Amino acid sequence: MRLGKTNLEVNKNGFGALPIQRRNEKDSIEILKTAYENGIDFYDTARFYTDSEEKLGKAFKNVREDIYLASKTGTETPEEFWKDLETSLKELKTDYLDLYQFHNISFCPKKEDDIYQAMLDAKNQGLVNHIGITTHKITHAHEALESGLYETLQYPFSYLSGETEIELVEKCAKLDVGFIAMKAMGGGLIKNSKASFAYINQFDNVLPIWGIQKLEELNEFLSYDESTTLTDELKADIEDDKKELGENFCRGCGYCMPCPEGINISLCARMSLWIRRFPTEPNMDERTQKIMEQTKDCTRCYSCVDKCPYELDIPELLKENYEDYINVLKGRTII
Ligand code: SF4
Ligand code: SF4
Repeated sequence: MRLGKTNLEVNKNGFGALPIQRRNEKDSIEILKTAYENGIDFYDTARFYTDSEEKLGKAFKNVREDIYLASKTGTETPEEFWKDLETSLKELKTDYLDLYQFHNISFCPKKEDDIYQAMLDAKNQGLVNHIGITTHKITHAHEALESGLYETLQYPFSYLSGETEIELVEKCAKLDVGFIAMKAMGGGLIKNSKASFAYINQFDNVLPIWGIQKLEELNEFLSYDESTTLTDELKADIEDDKKELGENFCRGCGYCMPCPEGINISLCARMSLWIRRFPTEPNMDERTQKIMEQTKDCTRCYSCVDKCPYELDIPELLKENYEDYINVLKGRTII
């Protein structure tokens, strides 16, 4: 597929390199090399993803020209921008990035902002080939598109998305901005990778970057290609999933954190879903019980709610999840 006005021709399976932070170097390199050998050519990482860039650099140092590397910076000052870019290039063992993105920063940089000028300088110097932005905020996404300054937009998009996100995808198509779909597996809540792929495959301008950390996961995605379309059976699976999750579920993005009371919101606010969609027992251990107990410390300060892109009533969600968890733990609710 063509990634908007970047004109990059990429495999419809993009590789999201956040989860390889959690694997050791040997396993990560094996996964990355297997992805490359099977045609995946777009790899998305970030300065923020600890050793992810380093692992990509080690895996691909001899095939740099055959792949596309995208990274991100979360800084908001030119000084930090240059430091980040230098580090990313060093870790990735390359002298250019195919795509460099502002990483969910607190505003949408415009031409008059020093930070955008720094990005432009980097492009003029050949250190960055294309400029993109990633955000969870719909207002920033529209601002970025309307500014005409960005060649790609990275935004959460999956079959759990609604009309708002579909409109954004269509707007990108109209403006020829490449749409990179993060959280295409619903932040870990979607289990059906085939339905996910087939759903996104309906949109020519959307590149999903699957967060892959196991060879088995990689092999699932490698078994799909642009001929994998939505069948009636997959459509029914999607409808079932949507019904089960409802509208107001936590996607686990973590943007509401940290909580001043130390509550692990992204885990606790979706515990009811975890224990129903995945094996229940591992989440009933002492450690998780302690984490869930902490939700009782919520002071309802609502500082998290202001940061949640999905406008969830987090204190209420925490209360409901806690009560449900205790009922399951005590055997009062059987799942
Ligand atoms: S409302 Fe509760 S969960 Fe949210 S930040 Fe405040 S104390 Fe933490
Ligand atoms: S509550 Fe909102 S911001 Fe926090 S992790 Fe869930 S979806 Fe993300």
